[in-house]
Amino acid sequence: MPQNGIHAMVGIASRKWMPKREWLLLGVVLGNIFPDLDNLVVAYATLANLPNPEHFHRTFTHSIFTVLAVVVLFFLVSLLARNEKWKNFGVGFGAGILMHILVDLILWFNGVVLFWPIQYELNLWGWFTEPAWLEMILGTGEFLMFGFYFLLLGSLARRSNTDLDRQRSSRIWAYIQFGLFLLFTALFFTIGAQGLLYQVFGGLYLLSLIVATVMTVQMRRTVESL
Ligand SMILES: [Zn+2]
Repeated sequence: MPQNGIHAMVGIASRKWMPKREWLLLGVVLGNIFPDLDNLVVAYATLANLPNPEHFHRTFTHSIFTVLAVVVLFFLVSLLARNEKWKNFGVGFGAGILMHILVDLILWFNGVVLFWPIQYELNLWGWFTEPAWLEMILGTGEFLMFGFYFLLLGSLARRSNTDLDRQRSSRIWAYIQFGLFLLFTALFFTIGAQGLLYQVFGGLYLLSLIVATVMTVQMRRTVESL
């Protein structure tokens, strides 16, 4: 589980070799973030007591067919809206999902149902058993990496003089994430990652994921100004 903040930063880092087209890079960064929103479905399935809720993760949002579908979808939107930007966005979004899948496969420990709905899981890490302490630190590391992503957005905004009204809030959100990282790391290693505590952690993770998505859209001028 590479942390979602890492995916977002990979999206930002790809700007060096992306062609400069309006909304393309916005699509790339959001496409890198998007696949882990399947955790919202996992959360719903957990709350609804469906069997094996974790089986929804790394499936339908992590599929080559989804990449094709979003590119076609946004191409149609661009035709209907007569706006080229949507096509750029769709191409970027598809490329972002592909990058996310690739990073997931390499870094680490779980497989990806690459051609969902075909039930075949590619797992380069099947031989590895993840120790509990590592699983905990990778979990709370989600907050740490969101924090770094928010700091990165803020510093890019300052450098390119964009989104002046968001620079402060992005830094505040970064500090909140660092605080959550420290808090939950301490709690997990003393109380254990289970029960109500783990549910609260999961809820805050989903909230952070939504904040990252919204902040990326809000700070699109910064993302695109690079
Ligand atoms: Zn993923």
